[in-house]
Amino acid sequence: MKGWSDGTGGTAYEFTANANMTLSAIYAKGYLVTVTSSLGTTYGSGWYDAGSSATIRVTPTSIPGEGILGVLGVSTVVTGWGDEYTGSPASDGSSNVKVEAPMMIHAVWVMSLGLILPTMIIAIIAVVTGFIFHKRRSNVQYCLNCGHKLPRGSAFCLECGHGQKLDRL
Ligand SMILES: [Zn+2]
Repeated sequence: MKGWSDGTGGTAYEFTANANMTLSAIYAKGYLVTVTSSLGTTYGSGWYDAGSSATIRVTPTSIPGEGILGVLGVSTVVTGWGDEYTGSPASDGSSNVKVEAPMMIHAVWVMSLGLILPTMIIAIIAVVTGFIFHKRRSNVQYCLNCGHKLPRGSAFCLECGHGQKLDRL
């Protein structure tokens, strides 16, 4: 309801009846806008006049991951709106929506990996490099007696003939 026929706004109208009066209620067509989000707080749900503009908002627009994930820059961020309104919110999480029908709108959250991927790639490279280096180094062993370089798995030293412990790697 928008108001009364004599121009008074609002639904409650108190007056002194000192003459015959005819008052009729004026209704404007309105639509319910419902804003939801799995995270954060939403604003803008409610009734709007048809054709008016609703400002909807979700805040915050970014939630950092817990512990080490947060340190690595992992966060969950709002990327847009879904259902009866699609679009991307401004940096403060707000959008202006023209209301021409009842609307259900929800915030779309997506996990942002931050530095997780680069960190994993560096870790994999480090492990692979370490493995190759380890393998190369293990292709030789050194005589327990004279320190001469011997092929891996040698039972005796080629230099001094000293017996070697069997390499059980
Ligand atoms: Zn030797």
